[in-house]
Amino acid sequence: MKIETEEIFCKILEQKGVKLFVKRIDQIHKFVSGNKWYKLKYNFIEAKRKGSRLILTFGGAYSNHILATAYLAKKEGFRSVGVIRGQEILPLNPTLCVAKENGMDFYYLSRSDYRLKDEVDFLNKLKIQFGDFYLIPEGGTNNFAIKGASEILDFKDTQDYICCAVGTGGTIAGVINSKRNNQRVVGFPVIKGDGFLQNNVKSFAKKRGWVFINDYIFGGYAKLTNELVCFIDDFDKAHNIQLDVVYTGKMMFGIMDLVSKDYFPRGSTILAIHTGGLQGNKGMNERFNIQLPVY
Ligand SMILES: *Cc1c(COP(=O)(O)O)cnc(C)c1O
Repeated sequence: MKIETEEIFCKILEQKGVKLFVKRIDQIHKFVSGNKWYKLKYNFIEAKRKGSRLILTFGGAYSNHILATAYLAKKEGFRSVGVIRGQEILPLNPTLCVAKENGMDFYYLSRSDYRLKDEVDFLNKLKIQFGDFYLIPEGGTNNFAIKGASEILDFKDTQDYICCAVGTGGTIAGVINSKRNNQRVVGFPVIKGDGFLQNNVKSFAKKRGWVFINDYIFGGYAKLTNELVCFIDDFDKAHNIQLDVVYTGKMMFGIMDLVSKDYFPRGSTILAIHTGGLQGNKGMNERFNIQLPVY
């Protein structure tokens, strides 16, 4: 799989003497977010090794992870069940539509019951209903996922800074584990409550030299502002790179803002990982009547 890295050219980067590159793992697949591809890879190998026929996982109704799991499960010959947070809403939104087309069955859990999802009694109930399954946690983050995510960086990625959007922290943990010792990893969380996230990453990351910047959450998970939507639109027009509004748009906004605030020393090089997520823009466009770029 050939993955491109593109350099971004613009006035502010030139003024500040900083070079910015984008690693396009979003191009791996039209609607399977690039990082989900890496995170699921070893999970599917493990599921096969265990002889499982069914993959079960959890997520919100617009989740990139749900869609990625549905698609890859079908491709690899598994059945799949998505336990979806919230009530069933018909017609299905674009994310769940494609997941369903890929053979995924859904089980809806009310928001209040959703926290029970990791409990043994509940999982046993699901086993009775669907049969035995290989369980992938919400967001797909486990040791297999981190092993996969540690393959995102390769020997050509020698920039001083590596930037990555952070949801559950699995992707960035893999990136941290595969970075060079002199590289710094900068994470842009998209969810409030860094204590939990930092600890999650600490428990998986084996190296130092990483930091989270919590200034670009834009009010919370999947929340958006006009400023962010305009930024994504301008970025698309200027560089022909489409960003999603939940993850990569916030990260890129953060990077450009930090460049303007001299966070990155003159002469430094930055690699932003474009993790994908474009499929989610479709649902956002429908919900908010906006025009984010779609695949
Ligand atoms: C899921 C996702 C992330 C976050 O990955 P985590 O491993 O949960 O931190 C980032 N970008 C995109 C596009 C995603 O779909």
